[in-house]
Amino acid sequence: MSKIKRNVFESNRRSVEPEWDEEVDVGVVGSGLAGLSAAIEAARVCAKVVIFEKMPSYGGNSIISGGGYCSWDSKLKLRQKFNLGDDSWLKHWEDTLKGGDYYNNPELVQVLVKGAPDGLNWLIDAGAKIRETLAHIGGHSTHRSHLEARARGRGYTDPLKNLALSRGIEIRLKTQVTHIWRDGTEGPVLGIETTTGEEKKNVKVNRALILASGGYGRDVRMRMEYNPSLVPEYNCTNQRGATGEIIRYAMAVGADALHMDFVQLYPCAEPKRGVIDSYALDCYSGTGFGLFYVNKHGQRFVNELDRRDTVADAQIKSGSKPTYAILNYRMFEKLATPKEVIHAGVRKKRIIQAESTVELAEKLDIPVDALQETVTKHNRYISEGKDSDFNKPMTKSMIPLLEGPFFAISQWPSVHYCMGGLRIDKQARVIDIEGKPIPKLYAAGEVCGGVHGSNRLAGNSIPECIVFGRIAGINASKESIQYIGNKTF
Ligand SMILES: Cc1cc2nc3c(=O)[nH]c(=O)nc-3n(C[C@H](O)[C@H](O)[C@H](O)COP(=O)(O)OP(=O)(O)OC[C@H]3O[C@@H](n4cnc5c(N)ncnc54)[C@H](O)[C@@H]3O)c2cc1C
Repeated sequence: MSKIKRNVFESNRRSVEPEWDEEVDVGVVGSGLAGLSAAIEAARVCAKVVIFEKMPSYGGNSIISGGGYCSWDSKLKLRQKFNLGDDSWLKHWEDTLKGGDYYNNPELVQVLVKGAPDGLNWLIDAGAKIRETLAHIGGHSTHRSHLEARARGRGYTDPLKNLALSRGIEIRLKTQVTHIWRDGTEGPVLGIETTTGEEKKNVKVNRALILASGGYGRDVRMRMEYNPSLVPEYNCTNQRGATGEIIRYAMAVGADALHMDFVQLYPCAEPKRGVIDSYALDCYSGTGFGLFYVNKHGQRFVNELDRRDTVADAQIKSGSKPTYAILNYRMFEKLATPKEVIHAGVRKKRIIQAESTVELAEKLDIPVDALQETVTKHNRYISEGKDSDFNKPMTKSMIPLLEGPFFAISQWPSVHYCMGGLRIDKQARVIDIEGKPIPKLYAAGEVCGGVHGSNRLAGNSIPECIVFGRIAGINASKESIQYIGNKTF
């Protein structure tokens, strides 16, 4: 290790092993999908598995997510059921690498895509319910996005939480991890310091520590340090606890981090608060069924099936806040959006409904002629199978906008997902700045970097949490308990 690196590293860590207040077999930081999956697997073998969660409620970003899960296969066989063509792990792998501009670690992507079907089946076995549809969403070359029945991540986190509790796992809320203890610069991780209110505790981890603390979208200072363009004026789709201190603590004990400047904007968030409600998800998931976007001038401005960064950039450059997703009732049907959800959206004025495209343009205060021309052109592109304006891949699943009622949903980009984070290997071990695994330290989920490259494809994060979370949990549970000096036995 170079002298400079070692000095920085040494100055950031406390050197003396503390008095331990408690011992656990496996400690997990974060109660989202990665943390729950890891803990559930670890608890197959280990008696005492504790999840430490700083927020007053469990679930992190996972619980508020839209529940889109991309997988090229599953036991539901929806692709075959709806005759949506072929897919394979190789296509999913290629799309993910391309979507990330090939910054991704191809080995990690292979683990993700090959493991995605089994991860989804595991979720279904735990009690998750999946809608009877399979969406084609931005950056993917085909229909592969499985949607949670009510488009809510809670539909995944609740069953996993129940499974975790049934396996004796403790989810300790309002407990922030404020330090990671490691034995020297070469030895294993020993434990953590936790803070609950004024009370501090040192918790020894006998087998391993798993970091599943999510991203840093809400950490304005941290995200701007790496990417100054992400100014505070941007809204954020994340929960308040999505801050990056665990990445800093892990770096202080030698962990490597990568791609920290790659932070994604979600193009279709609700414009005022920047959140992703179920309507924002329809704007995103409906593109494969023919939904398209217009600006305030009634014109399209992008290939709606393009990657999130491209669509978000095009919106910002279109000089029109907000932009609108335009669709009709048949597209909502294809998305299997429940009628009551549509009606509630119309009542709240989140969805604008009209009987004709003229009425829709008037209600949106956009030029009638321009919107009608856009609708006519887009319908023609569907029938001709070619988009002469933006080269969107037009498919047979797309529905022309002919029959009402017609709808518009407003949208605007909001800070959403951190592609960067801790470096891990295929076994979910955290890698140090010298390229070696840090003994007894694992990580999974959004806290990790390198899986998604420069730009995460939609629906790829939830499978990442499940697949790598389970790997981390299984491997952590296999670590030996006995630790003498600087070696484990
Ligand atoms: C609104 C929204 C919609 C989304 N929709 C989708 C989708 O449809 N499909 C998809 O694939 N992805 C989606 N994503 C992304 C995906 O949901 C997340 O990337 C994923 O759920 C992250 O899971 P995680 O377990 O890694 O972290 P999280 O679920 O965020 O959990 C991390 C937890 O760690 C806790 N924590 C952090 N620091 C500490 C600390 N120091 N001490 C103790 N606890 C700590 C946090 O409070 C949090 O509860 C969405 C994200 C958002 C915000």
